[in-house]
Amino acid sequence: MSENLAALRDKIVVVPDFPTPGISFKDLSWILADPVTLGITVRAWADAARPEAPTMIVGVEARGFPLGAALAYELGCGFVKLRKSGKLPRAVHRREYALEYGTSALEIHQDALTADDRVVIVDDVLATGGTAAASVHLVRETGARVISLAVLMDLTFLEGRAVMESLGVNVHALIDDEGNPYPHP
Ligand code: AMP
Repeated sequence: MSENLAALRDKIVVVPDFPTPGISFKDLSWILADPVTLGITVRAWADAARPEAPTMIVGVEARGFPLGAALAYELGCGFVKLRKSGKLPRAVHRREYALEYGTSALEIHQDALTADDRVVIVDDVLATGGTAAASVHLVRETGARVISLAVLMDLTFLEGRAVMESLGVNVHALIDDEGNPYPHP
């Protein structure tokens, strides 16, 4: 698997000082734009998550939407959105959180999941873990169980993985911040 994952590194575009000075933004758009690397990504996550018997994939706005829906299709699961503030039309659970740059808030429809659901959360990058932790809390507020977090890249120096471990959530990350594949996502 790690041989395939090495193909992801060539698709990473690093954008210095975006969206604010000092942030090294990892643009992973080319991984989605290439059917080969998109397929590698989705199959690697599916192989890691299948033994966890998930029923629902929850995608974090915005890059978690296409990636999460593709994973849901691959696993035969449903797909649910975690949206930024004010976008969902019905009753929501809401959580504010700190980002590597600034603050934000996420919402989920209160009736989006049930207590029977076993959830994998999907996003492109794990940085400080603030977004992922807010996502875990929101999914839990619906009564569903969070099994794992699937991300393309783990910015290891920001230690988001430790935040997830403290919440009892597995992390399936495919590459580190230098694009090196993890042997066991
Ligand atoms: P965090 O909440 O700090 O773990 O940040 C994760 C969220 O912010 C993800 O939704 C990422 O898409 C985005 N993000 C944070 N830092 C970066 C970065 N350096 N490059 C690309 N995306 C990032």
